[in-house]
Amino acid sequence: MAVSYHSTRASGEAAGVDFETALMRGLAPDGGLYLPRPVLPLPAGWQASRSLPDLATLVLPPYLGVEREALEPLLQAALDFPLPLVPLARDRHVLELFHGPTMAFKDVGARTMARLTAAAAAHRGRSVTVLVATSGDTGSAVADAFKGLARVRVALLYPEDMVSEMQERQLVTARPGVQAFRVRGTFDDCQRLVKGAFSDPALAQLGLSSANSINIGRLLPQALYYLWGVARLGRSTGAPAPVVTVPSGNLGNLTGGVLAEKMGMPVGRFVAAHNVNDFFPEFLEGRAEAYAFRPTRATLSNAMDVGAPSNFERLLALLGDALPERVWGVSVDDDATLGRMRTSARDDGYLPCPHTAVALEGLERYRAVSGDTRPAIVLATAHPAKFPDAVRRATGEPAPRSPQLEGLVDRQRNVLPLDAEPAALRAALLDFTAAAS
Ligand SMILES: *Cc1c(COP(=O)(O)O)cnc(C)c1O
Repeated sequence: MAVSYHSTRASGEAAGVDFETALMRGLAPDGGLYLPRPVLPLPAGWQASRSLPDLATLVLPPYLGVEREALEPLLQAALDFPLPLVPLARDRHVLELFHGPTMAFKDVGARTMARLTAAAAAHRGRSVTVLVATSGDTGSAVADAFKGLARVRVALLYPEDMVSEMQERQLVTARPGVQAFRVRGTFDDCQRLVKGAFSDPALAQLGLSSANSINIGRLLPQALYYLWGVARLGRSTGAPAPVVTVPSGNLGNLTGGVLAEKMGMPVGRFVAAHNVNDFFPEFLEGRAEAYAFRPTRATLSNAMDVGAPSNFERLLALLGDALPERVWGVSVDDDATLGRMRTSARDDGYLPCPHTAVALEGLERYRAVSGDTRPAIVLATAHPAKFPDAVRRATGEPAPRSPQLEGLVDRQRNVLPLDAEPAALRAALLDFTAAAS
């Protein structure tokens, strides 16, 4: 059966578009976000897949409208790093998603999407300019994933003073076909600029495409590691339906999990663990109205510093009133984050990054409040070496070394300052694409 893509804002009967159109557009013309319909049941034998690319090759073809044979090499190349499931005491299992080139989970979605975009650009015989706003790890994952691909250029916007030094170094590393912009504003300013550029007629000829987690091309692959983790846990422990804890900001990661559950993956419950940017937990508790977003607050888990999570709209469309039943929300402040980094390192011998620490702490609180003792999977979204200051504050020790990150210090940089104004972005994009073509 063919899957088509429908805007969260379209009526049930409106015609959908194919995957390639949804991928290239990013946002639907009515301002909504694309979701697949129907969500197909998982193919038989999904639990037995031997690798993430194998699992992806089994599940994705009907969603992408591409033959399995054509897709397999693309997925093998995109998903060529391990995803270990590390057991901790008390039936907790950390699924490490950070062994890709930029050491954050966003490599999974970005690397798959990059290759799908290059394939679509070739298919259409035209160039694409990918525009992305990042609060931390998105930009480097996207820049790394898309660099040097034929017919593809990347412009990435990040908020000054809201990313760590290490993250910034990764962002501004010079890469072929990629330009970084340091925006005088917040992450929400960056997101607003990106949204505005898509409806700017002066930029129409650039073939703008988004690589934020609003893009379905990044979202779909994020369903895969949930399937992988749940299958692995089921094989090793016979555990039926684990609690899955997700360090959350823009809610793209969690939306991938909810899609996987819709496909038929067994899940006890999701825990959405946020830092003090707590709109979503407050909503789940009935203390905030839908879309009553708040200004972004800066925290140690800065890739989750999102006041207005764009994938909230998708979660509402997917689950509606069942959202609070399926997802339990929690907000963890910086002190508790540092405390969890410390106790996890001391008691479990496992040093998490601040984002993963928010999730580990969130799971403890969920278990305490609910009494739910089922086995749990905690998604680990970044390598702790990316956050040396937080590691030092939490443990008094230097962060573990990472030759991959240290190698960035001497590399050439390429970054331009940008005012948080639509006109400034317009001029900068026209300059960049003129220079690159
Ligand atoms: C982006 C990111 C998150 C949050 O993911 P969302 O999809 O925005 O909810 C969590 N941890 C890390 C390390 C990230 O880079």
